[in-house]
Order: sequence, then C-alpha cells, then structure tokens
Amino acid sequence: MSSCRACLKERMLSFLPLGTHPPANAFLTAEELERPEFAASLDTHVCLDCGLVQVPDRVPPEFFRNYLYVPSAAEATHVHFRRLAERVRSDTADGDHLLVDIGCNDGLFLSEAGTLGCRVLGIEPAANLAAMARARGVEVFNEYFGRDTALDVRERYGPAHTIVTTNTFNHIDDLHGFMSGVVTLLDERGTFVIEVPHALDYVEKNEFDTVYHEHVSTFTLKSLVDLFSHFGLVVSDVEPISIHGGSMRVFGRRAAVSQPGVAPGQWLARELEAGLFDPATYDAFRQRVEKLRLDLCALLNDLKQAGRRIAGYGAPAKGNTLLNYCGIGPDTLDFLADRNRLKHGLYSPGMHIPIVPAEEVLKQQPDYLLILAWNFADEIRLQQEEFRRRGGQFILPIPEPVVVS
Ligand code: ZN
Repeated sequence: MSSCRACLKERMLSFLPLGTHPPANAFLTAEELERPEFAASLDTHVCLDCGLVQVPDRVPPEFFRNYLYVPSAAEATHVHFRRLAERVRSDTADGDHLLVDIGCNDGLFLSEAGTLGCRVLGIEPAANLAAMARARGVEVFNEYFGRDTALDVRERYGPAHTIVTTNTFNHIDDLHGFMSGVVTLLDERGTFVIEVPHALDYVEKNEFDTVYHEHVSTFTLKSLVDLFSHFGLVVSDVEPISIHGGSMRVFGRRAAVSQPGVAPGQWLARELEAGLFDPATYDAFRQRVEKLRLDLCALLNDLKQAGRRIAGYGAPAKGNTLLNYCGIGPDTLDFLADRNRLKHGLYSPGMHIPIVPAEEVLKQQPDYLLILAWNFADEIRLQQEEFRRRGGQFILPIPEPVVVS
C-alpha cells in the first residue's frame, strides 16, 4: 500500500506478512472443495501518521452480495444492540427523526430501535441479509453505500438525524467515498455513530486475526479524527465497548455545531503513549504473533501426539485467518462447531474443516475445544458447561495460547 485510506498520507509500514489467504468468510460447499479456491496475499500495514492498521482490499465486491456473518447468532450481541438503541433513542428527542443503519445486516439493531419508537431505515448490500431484515419488519435499501445512494435516500426519506454503522466501517475500502455519502445524508445537527474495533486492543492483545481481506482496517481514534476533518466533522465523544475483543463507539458531528469533547483528547493521548505511531511497536507485535503461532502449533501437536481429540468452537472469519496463518487443518481439528445455521454443512476456507451445529460438541465430546470466537469466550464457556463437566477443556489462542480447565 502506498497511501493510507483514512488520512491519505504516505508513511506506510508493512509489518506483518500473514501469507496467502482465501476471503475469510468464503465458506465452501462439498462440491466447491474440488475447484480452485480464490486466494490473495494478506500483508498487514500501519499508517505511521494516523495509526490506521490496514490491508489492501483484494476481494471482489460481488462477494458481499451473499454474506454469512449474522450477529444474531451471539447472545451478547442482542444485549449490546438493545443498549445502543436506548442510547440513540435518548439522543433523539423527536420521534419523527430518521435513524439510518448503514450495513444493517439482518436488522437486529434497527428492530430494537424500532420497538423503542424510532423511525428507522437500513442500508445493506447483501441481498440475503436485506431479506432477513425485512422479515423482521425493517425497511431496507438494498445497495452499497456511497454519495449516490445517500442522495437517493435523502430525496425519498429526508435527512438522517442519526446515522449508525456498527462493525461495517472496518469493511470499507473507499472510506472517503463512504464519508462523502454520510455528510450528504446527515442532517446539519445530526450525529454519526461508528462502532469499530480499536487498534489499541489489536496491538495490546495480539489480535492479529481480526484484520483480513474483508476487515480491511482497524482504527485508532486519531485515524477517525483525521478522516472526519476532511469532511467538516469533529469527534464529539468516544466510549469503550467490550464487543469484538475491544471496540470503540465514536460520535461525529459537524464542526459548525460541535466541539471535540474531553474524552477524545484523552484517547488520543493514550494512543500516543502506547506507541501506536512508532515502528518499534509493530516490530515487537510481529515477534509476539510469530511466537503465538509456534506456541499454538506446538501445543496442538503435543495433544495430538498424546492421542487427544480436538475441535474448534466457532467458525468466525477471524478464526479462518488464524487457522490459515498457523496451518491448522482437519488433521488437527475434527470439526468447527458453530451456532450459525447458515454455515452448517460447509467447509472453512483454505483449511477445509467441516462446520457442524454446536450440539455436535456433546455428541462427539472431543477432549479439547479451541475457541476461535475468542471474543465470546465467556459466553461459550457458559454454553458448554456440560462439555466441561464431562472432562472437556478449552484452549484460548489469543492473546497467547492457554489451556483453561
Ligand atoms: Zn493514515
């Protein structure tokens, strides 16, 4: 990469070559296993000016027309979206104000907001997800978001008082095109709310697997401040949220009606102090990730040598990044158990491990479960209490491999 997709500057550092990977959400049917699989190199970069961690976008856009990630599969997500809906509702005095969710997925957040009385509209490029959202009673515009879509929506529905985008901004290659759409659609006194993973957690917790071809960016607050400044927006507030391994909720408003808040200043200072703009930080990060790979492979090999049976829990996209980077395949993991029925009967991209329903864990009772959806580790350990009671143990791969009895 020659320039940063947020601040557009050119001090890019390529710090973590992860090898060649298929798209991390490109699950395969049994017939597709026989055909050649699309794959591209995955080299993680950082912009030393704004700290945006990023990879080049190499996935054809049509890929997102049928998408298998559905947040409703995790219970923690329900609670999270209900709280976000309450938060947005309390900021919206007039019930007639329009709330838009860009990348609304299966409509879970907007249906929560709708029950609180908000007037809601989803924008979602994936046709299968748009259909699921409509089945929840959410009105959906089935399009990619950019300036043209924003003009179209504004003409039909009026300006948006609140625009929300959760775990979507990190999928966007053309951030400036997206932002141009946001300022086109946003009311003059409106608020733009972004939820994305925070690069500080990525660095401090060794979350290398959260950056892949479809998650092209992990943001610092600095990168959002710089990006917003190109569009006349300021970061008016920011707060931490625990979902997806450490995320931030960032509030943007027009500079004409708002000032940067106190919390954003504190976050910027913390990012600077943590060395997020210093090449040495990323050199150390690469060494920790390489050690993590060696340690995890050694642990799994030792268990296999001792005759233990191991399976994976969760088949999230980041799990595929981890499996492909470490070269962990079906000779090590018997299956990946996942609650998302859209994935059942499919095979993981690259490593071709079969995905089965979560109930298979108790039916087959492996000795160990490698938790690939590590951001939901607490919830998974509760759900799999019976597996543990029968002697099963958990392996957490991140921030470093550890066995939890
Ligand atoms: Zn930058």
